[in-house]
Amino acid sequence: MQKSIERVAGDSEGVAYEFPVFRFEGKDKAAPSAYLQAALHAGELPGVVAIDALMPMLAKAEAEDRIKGPITIVPWANPIGRAQYHFGEHQGRFNLGTRTNFNRSFPLLAAPDARLLPDVSLGGADRRLKNRLVQLSLGADIVLDLHCDDEGLAYLYIHTSLWPQMADCAAAMGAEAVLLWSEDNTGTFEGASIVPYQNVPTSVARFDRRVVTTVEYRGMLDVDGALAASDAEGLYRLLVTRGVVQDSSVPKFGKFAGPVVPLENIDMMPAPRAGAILYDVKPGDRVRKGDRLATIVHTPGEVDGRTEVFAPQSGFILTRRSRRIIRAGEDLLKLAGDDRSGDARSGTLED
Ligand SMILES: [Zn+2]
Repeated sequence: MQKSIERVAGDSEGVAYEFPVFRFEGKDKAAPSAYLQAALHAGELPGVVAIDALMPMLAKAEAEDRIKGPITIVPWANPIGRAQYHFGEHQGRFNLGTRTNFNRSFPLLAAPDARLLPDVSLGGADRRLKNRLVQLSLGADIVLDLHCDDEGLAYLYIHTSLWPQMADCAAAMGAEAVLLWSEDNTGTFEGASIVPYQNVPTSVARFDRRVVTTVEYRGMLDVDGALAASDAEGLYRLLVTRGVVQDSSVPKFGKFAGPVVPLENIDMMPAPRAGAILYDVKPGDRVRKGDRLATIVHTPGEVDGRTEVFAPQSGFILTRRSRRIIRAGEDLLKLAGDDRSGDARSGTLED
């Protein structure tokens, strides 16, 4: 395994950002290659500790000459966000200088060719970082971007062109649900990793062996040794299943049996009032149309001081907020519905 340090120039003299990249060499030219990154949203740490738990497994495989395809690992993908604190609170989701979401505005290339990347020498540090992450990952057969939600199940975003071929990956990783999406106009990292393959010859696109997913490892607070160990095992199983690592001792696992939900079915449930949230449901709960999901206490102690929110359709709770304060119009939770949502925003990749 080789470690190198990537350096991204900052936007003023004396400022630069660094992040480490680990590379395992593959011994078999025909084997698929893999790229894993975590903490692009810099405060989302379940994937960081999962990679930490995965590394000794890969080191053992390397020592035993079982790494077949090359593996690139970026455990802290966002040194800019990692360093951002505002009044003592970490801010890892948006660039404070530009208000841009760190997982938006990635270049969506017409083909998997790094020469098509835009010139970002004067584009700002976060655009330089995004270009570099695309360069590091482009061409890998397997691209995993490890995130987490506020509070949620372990679920995967997968582009429709890769489903159901990726069902083995969802099973290997122990995902509890899969969300299928088809359009990305915002430039997520996942979009930047799959859009370049949409209009190229089949021999280049290789959708039979391509894996691209945003992995949502539950919630922000699910940074835990036991979960990290089981998530690392899931990542390892995926690498073995897809032939990147050789390991005959990995036990067989069943088919993916969880729900597969088109993004059009997600109800985001905007809060009708600002206040304190009393949830009736948690991630994983099954609900029926008309069930109460939450009560907003907006004018405490007064008659009519509460507003209840009900399920617009039947389905299950995918995520909810980790904090209990909310403004009117902010989303209360994600309800994965059995049918198409009436909410026009539901079709977007909302990581
Ligand atoms: Zn995220």
